Amino acid sequence: MGLLNALLQWQETRHEKKVMKMKDEGLCPACHGKGYNLPISEFYISPDYFHCDACEGSGIYTDWEHSPYYN
Ligand SMILES: [Zn+2]
Repeated sequence: MGLLNALLQWQETRHEKKVMKMKDEGLCPACHGKGYNLPISEFYISPDYFHCDACEGSGIYTDWEHSPYYN
């Protein structure tokens, strides 16, 4: 296994652990159950920007799982 593969594997494992944790808590992994995502810059604040598309703003894990953003 090369270094790149090892790195990809590590990232995948981290991602899976995060998703499993969110699943246990029933929260959307994309926004951690908040229903919105924090903007990168305070200069780009808008209602649309805050809204989490992955769970339709519900913050619920199952909504995220059934969204087109899943995987
Ligand atoms: Zn969400």
